Amino acid sequence: STAVVLLTRDLRLDDNPALAAACAAADRVVPLYVLDPTLAGLSPNRTRFLHQSLADLRDRLRKLGGDLVVREGDPVAETIRTARDTCATTITLAADVSGYARRRERRLAHECDRHRIALELHAGLTVAEPGTLRPGGGGDCYKVFTPYYRSWSAARWRPAATAPDRLTLPDGVTPGDLPALPAGESPHACEGGETAARRRLTAWLRHDIEGYDDAHDDLPGDATSRLSPYLRWGCLSPLSLARTARSRDAEAFVRQLCWRDFYYQVARVHPKLSTEALRPAADRDWRYDTDALEHWQDGLTGVPIVDAGMRQLRDEGWMHNRARLITAAFLTKHLGIDWRSGVAWFFRWLLDGDVPNNSGNWQWTAGTGNDTRPYRRFNPIRQALRFDPEGVYVRRYVPELKGIDGAAVHQPWRLPEPERRGLDYPGPLESHRDEAVWLRD
Ligand code: FAD
Repeated sequence: STAVVLLTRDLRLDDNPALAAACAAADRVVPLYVLDPTLAGLSPNRTRFLHQSLADLRDRLRKLGGDLVVREGDPVAETIRTARDTCATTITLAADVSGYARRRERRLAHECDRHRIALELHAGLTVAEPGTLRPGGGGDCYKVFTPYYRSWSAARWRPAATAPDRLTLPDGVTPGDLPALPAGESPHACEGGETAARRRLTAWLRHDIEGYDDAHDDLPGDATSRLSPYLRWGCLSPLSLARTARSRDAEAFVRQLCWRDFYYQVARVHPKLSTEALRPAADRDWRYDTDALEHWQDGLTGVPIVDAGMRQLRDEGWMHNRARLITAAFLTKHLGIDWRSGVAWFFRWLLDGDVPNNSGNWQWTAGTGNDTRPYRRFNPIRQALRFDPEGVYVRRYVPELKGIDGAAVHQPWRLPEPERRGLDYPGPLESHRDEAVWLRD
């Protein structure tokens, strides 16, 4: 018999429940990826990462005797066509949470019904399945992180799925070509794929995981795992990662993985998380200031710590979490610009950009989401002095300020006039010229 596994954002062999289930259901397995034109234009960075991940997955599957079958078009139509062409009796798939993904699942279920093909949805994108943990007092999802973390930590995690050691494609299936590798936008984006993910993981486990608790907010130290793009595309199993981290007593790191799950269970219940505020009353009158928005996007606000973060985003397709918090708070709480503009800009550039984490975190920062202190403000200068005390992070990403030593780099407007005039760097945005703005928070 034959089974099709429709791969989406679970591009790995290790602990892949949908793949393992297809192997258990049938002796011939078609690992299928459908390039969906609807998603193609969203982010050149992510498209490149995806294509690298697919090429790597194909190599790994070929080593086991199988292949990656690639098609292009509507994922539902192509999956059904592939299943019918190969006389498959089962289709397996990792269950996802975004509105788009869930509509795709519903349409697929409908077509499978029509063609008498069994459809199996499996876990695999998170540690705990979204929707399986429910708050005690009722409700569809946890709205506050700490109780969710408590319940998540106490829950029994599913057993890891066995990776296949051999695969057989049905006769006569043409694998299809992977399109030429598209260009990304960020020159220093990391490379996609399970092989690159495992390399990064090994280095992280060897050198940095022990110090994570103390160092994860240190901007120049750059001591977080940088595994988020691999988790986003499923090149790495979140469950395997959580288990490994737990076995190393790295609970602070495990807690961050729980934040990821937290937003998945929120997104499952709120499919319009990217556009609709979780707390509509807090969705205040945002300012529409295209000029300020463009300065923020270009890393030219004149506030060095903000500009450094925004330029890291463009340069690497990734930004340190502390810088994401500072830049997002600056846009929403200082400039008063709608969080949706921030969601869209990050979504274009981030290799790890996804609806639950991007929109969930933006709403948290803007105060429209799950923050228990929605009115908190981040003073960017205080943040800079605390998390980049010597200005190393700023000088790394804002070369115009390279000549300014130490913490003085955070407030170039305080430099003596001749020195200030010699800089090819803007003064703070009009609305921020007054230093009182910084001191108010
Ligand atoms: P580490 O510190 O090594 O953490 C390990 C893993 O835990 C991460 O890879 C990630 O999967 C998870 N994690 C850590 N922090 C968070 C968090 N706050 N929320 C959810 N998961 C977390 N993360 C994304 O994966 N995709 C996004 O689109 C995204 N957008 C964000 C937007 C804003 C405005 C903010 C403030 C945060 C956003 N984050 C997003 C969360 C976080 O910044 C990144 O996950 C983290 O910086 C990734 O780097 P890392 O892998 O080195 O993290």
